[in-house]
Amino acid sequence: MNVKQRAIGILPRKAAISLLAMVPFLFLGAMDGHASPAAKLGAYPSKPSSGGGYVSPWALVKEPTSGQTEVIGGAAYGCIAGAKDLPETGKGYVTIRRERNRHYGHPETVKMIKDIGAELASRTDQLMMIGDMAQPRGGRMESMHRSHQNGMDVDIWFTLASSPKAANLLAPEGNDPPTMLTEDRAGISKRWGEDQLFLLKTAAQRPDVDRIFVNFAIKNALCKSVEGDRSWLGKVRPWWGHDAHFHIRLKCPAGSPECKQQPATPKGDGCGYEVASWMKKPKIILKKSDKPAPPPPLGPARCVALLKKGKGTNDGGVQTAAK
Ligand SMILES: [Zn+2]
Repeated sequence: MNVKQRAIGILPRKAAISLLAMVPFLFLGAMDGHASPAAKLGAYPSKPSSGGGYVSPWALVKEPTSGQTEVIGGAAYGCIAGAKDLPETGKGYVTIRRERNRHYGHPETVKMIKDIGAELASRTDQLMMIGDMAQPRGGRMESMHRSHQNGMDVDIWFTLASSPKAANLLAPEGNDPPTMLTEDRAGISKRWGEDQLFLLKTAAQRPDVDRIFVNFAIKNALCKSVEGDRSWLGKVRPWWGHDAHFHIRLKCPAGSPECKQQPATPKGDGCGYEVASWMKKPKIILKKSDKPAPPPPLGPARCVALLKKGKGTNDGGVQTAAK
């Protein structure tokens, strides 16, 4: 049984159909990596390198390449040349866990974060906390994500912080901000409020945003509660995890002909049958394999070349790692 069959085999029929409908996203590797079924099934090791897991050569590269920005490949099999660094703080936002060195992205990603931060700042003094974006040249991370590879993805925590200092106290490495779900994980808790709704809606209404991943119980709650214009709900996609943060994915930017764009989200608000199938509490049965998973591929050929490249020159880079 291959990974696809195994992933579908653990879900109720309707959810399986729903997953089948997402096959292009899932198995072209473009869905998010947090707690995805493929990750749960151990398709790739996903432990920090200190634990003896996968060591990604992409994580060894400390600097982006200089020069023209270009996105190559997709969210889960790609990289980025000329990535930009999101400043540590700005209007309405603060980045956390900078030591991970995952705060790089396409200039459009950086701009989108700054724009949403500015909009948030017009309604509250609270800051949104920005989590992982991409590594300096993108590529596969050692832990936590299968996607976030091409500079067009960003995680934003639902919990707001009163200041940059408070953010770092609230979310040090190893201590995630709290879930937005109730204890039974069937609905949203009292932590959820207008600011969280504002962030999702503001992001989803942007034409440069392709989709946003949230926990299916959050999507379900939105389907039940949002009144008036519901057109933006279609971009808000139900998925596993994503109950303490949401994940924004931007569309392929202009000037990146080799960026792989996911198929558009289905028309409509994405409520009804699709969300109902997720709410049937799929039972996940994990199959353990004795064999260690093979290391994931480095990425498209142009990404492998990018990995070896020095910063704006032809020396440096990770010559030995990029075999
Ligand atoms: Zn993410």
